[in-house]
Amino acid sequence: MSKLNDIARQLLHCGEVHVVIGYGEGFNGRIRPTFAFTDNEADKLLFDNRCRQNLASYLCKKEIVSHGKPAIVANIHTLRGIIRLAAEKQIADGNVIAIVMTSEGDVRELHKLEDMENFLSGTPLQLNETDRIMLDKLNSMTVSDRWKFWQEEIGNCIRCYACRQACPLCYCTQCTVEINCPQWIPVAPYKMSNMEWHIMRAMHLSGRCVECGQCGAACPVNIPIHLLPVRLAEEIKERYGTVSGTKREEICEMSSFLPEDSENFIG
Ligand code: SF4
Ligand code: SF4
Repeated sequence: MSKLNDIARQLLHCGEVHVVIGYGEGFNGRIRPTFAFTDNEADKLLFDNRCRQNLASYLCKKEIVSHGKPAIVANIHTLRGIIRLAAEKQIADGNVIAIVMTSEGDVRELHKLEDMENFLSGTPLQLNETDRIMLDKLNSMTVSDRWKFWQEEIGNCIRCYACRQACPLCYCTQCTVEINCPQWIPVAPYKMSNMEWHIMRAMHLSGRCVECGQCGAACPVNIPIHLLPVRLAEEIKERYGTVSGTKREEICEMSSFLPEDSENFIG
């Protein structure tokens, strides 16, 4: 049995947590989220390079957290998701234990948000090569070519909302797209309404996205939709020098206002 299974088993056995959120074997060699509620179920958990889903998306789901305090098997993006959720007051310090898989292949238990922050501060946070190439290509386009690219991609969206479900920061109990009185965004998937949905989503995530890429990975029609919030995250970093999901006291740059702000955007 691996160290991961040992830790999960022990945490459940002594009652320190009531569920361990992790990864397990699915169908056809695929990995799926797996929830261990008992010592024996802890043996189902595994971790390898197929485990990329950002499991922090389960930390605001009442079906999971209503069982009691969770532990969560965390890659770097999951850890950033936890810190961001804490910054947004969705998680309190001490209410989740991260079981972190280190790049050296070791497993560490992090009980406090401060420990998670310290772990992240010593870890390089960079985009994977494919996303870097794609983003550089988009950045080098003219504005009209980039607009055409996104019009074509977003025109293919079938509005399944898998991107929203995959995201740890899309935790609202009712999403704007589901409000119909008034109806801000038409339900049917067509070019204009798709664009409205994706612009709204990108703006809601600006300064909050932890760059995990999981919204794009979840898309059944292969729209690289993560590149929109990830580009905005880079813009925020360039302008404000902040990186979402690294400090539990961080603010949201796009929705925080100070009395001394210049107000040069108000006519
Ligand atoms: S990359 Fe996508 S899924 Fe990940 S945090 Fe950003 S918006 Fe959410
Ligand atoms: S997952 Fe893809 S198809 Fe589904 S709503 Fe998101 S972008 Fe559209």
